[in-house]
Amino acid sequence: MITVEQALDKILSYATVLEEEESPILDSLGQVLAEDVYSDIDVPPLDNSAMDGYAVRSEDTGGASRQSPRLLCVIDTVPAGSISSRVVEAGTAIRIMTGAPVPEGADSVVMFEDTDEAQRQGRPAEIGILRRVEAGLNIRRAGEDIARGSMVLSQGTMLRPSEVGVLASLGRAAVRVIRRPVVAILATGDELVELGQPLPAGRIYNSNTYSLAALVRRYGGIPRILGIARDSESSVVAGLRRGLDADMLITTGGVSAGDYDVVKDVLAKQGEIAFWTVKMRPGKPLAFGTVEGVGEAGTAKSIPHLGLPGNPVSSMITFELFGRPAMLKMMGKRNLAKPIIEAVAESSVANHGRRRIFTRVIVEKRDNQYFARLTGPQGSGILTSMALANGLMIIPEDKGVVTPGDVVEVMMLDWGEE
Ligand code: AMP
Ligand code: MG
Repeated sequence: MITVEQALDKILSYATVLEEEESPILDSLGQVLAEDVYSDIDVPPLDNSAMDGYAVRSEDTGGASRQSPRLLCVIDTVPAGSISSRVVEAGTAIRIMTGAPVPEGADSVVMFEDTDEAQRQGRPAEIGILRRVEAGLNIRRAGEDIARGSMVLSQGTMLRPSEVGVLASLGRAAVRVIRRPVVAILATGDELVELGQPLPAGRIYNSNTYSLAALVRRYGGIPRILGIARDSESSVVAGLRRGLDADMLITTGGVSAGDYDVVKDVLAKQGEIAFWTVKMRPGKPLAFGTVEGVGEAGTAKSIPHLGLPGNPVSSMITFELFGRPAMLKMMGKRNLAKPIIEAVAESSVANHGRRRIFTRVIVEKRDNQYFARLTGPQGSGILTSMALANGLMIIPEDKGVVTPGDVVEVMMLDWGEE
């Protein structure tokens, strides 16, 4: 048996960063930039007003106060998007809206609240300034956000909503990113029934395909559902053949020691088997190998194949631990680890087998501290326990028992990516 880290290292050594693609900026959310992005414009393009108010020459406001307003002649109004043709000269002001370019001659903006506009009727021809202002007040400078010619985002940056916004502010409709991996998912098992079909006695619905496809999508990949293979080598091989253009193949079931566990035999014949079992629970029977697939323009490529266990909880947890980091590496991401916090255990858990245990827990914050309690029974078929959990408590191989009050590490399942 190998450790979780050894298994992960092995799997990652087969995951390579995918090619670039041009993608509309909104579709590229969560993807990694494959180019340095420079700006060919200033943002904002011109000095403009940060307030609704009056553009003035600051020297004209000397001595102005509520008691003795300084009266200026209003010569124009300029909304956002227009440029005034008038020049602010001594004794004059231009009414200006937020975002409108500052007119020539003016060096500051007095906001409405610092004028007597509210006491006047309609569009006043004259305005009283109620305070002295410094040059530059309420003016946003051209290029203060982004200077023309500067590098705004560098290659390797993960695009979050803020980066999508920055790209939009440059006028970029599309951008070069590393493409999303296609992850093909094949369920195996004679007992499995597809959704929407009646359920004969002794059969169960295929849930793994959907929990795994949801995980793939959550982490930015494109799930490709290959359906259900029966417990025969020919059926598994036929199923896998439908996924040979994917970037990663995932099967569930058929990797333990049972009579009908044929996936491991298929792996042994088709590709290279990297390992069989991992020192963890759940998820001990896990297989990894490669399958000869078809790349772009019919070229041969080696596709990593993760043979996940069939139990619904095990398949989800092993995907989180091994499938997700492989996907993220393909996407060019640097941080492959899920967030881990320290919490105070509120349940006891025994670890007899000297394996690393991942238990489903509910993490709550109370008095500035995290607490973690078991979701209930931890059978690896109890999928509703995954639905209850927001974290996985990690019990190291050498820790025989966790007792309430122990400080433990918890991998958070729903926290965002960095
Ligand atoms: P296996 O690893 O094939 O022996 O499967 C282990 C357990 O997981 C068995 O109880 C299977 O019925 C169950 N199982 C396998 N595949 C699926 C699936 N796609 N959906 C739900 N349960 C499954
Ligand atoms: Mg099976």
